[in-house]
Amino acid sequence: PAAVNVREVRRDYNRSTKLSRELVEELSRVCSLAQQAWVEARKTSTFATFQPWLEKIVALKREEAQAIGFGGGVPYDALLDNYEPGVTAANVQNWFTPLRDELVKLLNEIKGSSRAPDVTLLTRLYPVDAQRSFSTYAARRIGFDFKCGRLDEAHHPFCSGLGPGDTRLTTRYDPHHFPGAFFGTLHEAGHGIYDQGLPAAAFGAPLGQAVSLGIHESQSRLWENFVGRSRPFWNCFYTPAQAVFPQALGDVPFEDFYFAINDVRPSFIRVEADEVTYNLHIMLRFELEQKLVAGDLKPADVPGVWNETFTRYFGITPPNDSQGCLQDIHWSGGGIGYFPTYALGNMFAAQFFSTATRDLDDLPGLISKGEFAPLKEWLNEKIHRHGKEFRSQDLVQRVTGEPLSHRALVAHLRNKFGELYGL
Ligand code: ZN
Repeated sequence: PAAVNVREVRRDYNRSTKLSRELVEELSRVCSLAQQAWVEARKTSTFATFQPWLEKIVALKREEAQAIGFGGGVPYDALLDNYEPGVTAANVQNWFTPLRDELVKLLNEIKGSSRAPDVTLLTRLYPVDAQRSFSTYAARRIGFDFKCGRLDEAHHPFCSGLGPGDTRLTTRYDPHHFPGAFFGTLHEAGHGIYDQGLPAAAFGAPLGQAVSLGIHESQSRLWENFVGRSRPFWNCFYTPAQAVFPQALGDVPFEDFYFAINDVRPSFIRVEADEVTYNLHIMLRFELEQKLVAGDLKPADVPGVWNETFTRYFGITPPNDSQGCLQDIHWSGGGIGYFPTYALGNMFAAQFFSTATRDLDDLPGLISKGEFAPLKEWLNEKIHRHGKEFRSQDLVQRVTGEPLSHRALVAHLRNKFGELYGL
């Protein structure tokens, strides 16, 4: 264990000493101005306002990559390594390519299905107080510990682990959109359960920290999607939901609700995307940012290439850049190399969940009865308690017995949406 702390502290030290003070200062100066420009650009959907800032950021991030070094790989590797240590662009490409092919195929089958849910039942009136108590109830039931954590309201949902005994989640409520706050809360609670499961004794040292952004995201996605959007979960939660929201759900059959919360359709905005299309949003960004860093794509050409790629994947074209290449904050803050970790999180989650299903006796039955402790304890034991001891790829191999691949995620999506859409 001490060796792990030494390894990680040395890694951080090496990375930071390789960056000149001028570069670090310039990055922070440019990013803070770029974020203001981005806010304005997005509001008015004028890419031209943001373009000079994106040019500066890409140039600085390329400098950063050169300074850090990337072995025999590509500069993008050095940036990705900030968020997902040990993973290279080539790794991601190898995972994403087969996943993308499968997702595009699945999405086309879903688009060709004669079935579609009635999603308007999710925009009926869901009083905010009732949403607050129901979301809090669900977060508590799945295992988020409110004795050393809390759930508040904020414009941007997030989870921050301030240390052992203080994990804070936030969510925001829209009285005419049930899924936003509810699944948002399960998502943040998943992050929170990970933070609460890290070894408290190692607080402040790498052994008390999360493995990577991808592994962190796997924990939120596992609770949000693999548990929260599953049939077994609602076997347990639908009757209480009808009691809490009698006006909205009193006359809605279980199947209609379950289908509505699992609606799949192409849409422009990543953060509102469903389980199937979400990963395609990420792959688009990964493709573009890799080319930007490699110098194969000029920032000026981003809107055109974005829309062209988007149309190829989704079959629809963004009507403007606010709903296209200007929608995310990441690039404006220098967060290049961050996006892949979201889709990696989904892949990790699928592989972990499929292993947990194998390891635990009748996991769907347990979830249907509202017994979440066995799953939470499995995650505590297999993942959380190790802190940063293993790199994400090694952790997956250790926990699931196999290297990371697209297979578990594709199997999960095919299985679930094949049934719903009659494929
Ligand atoms: Zn998250």
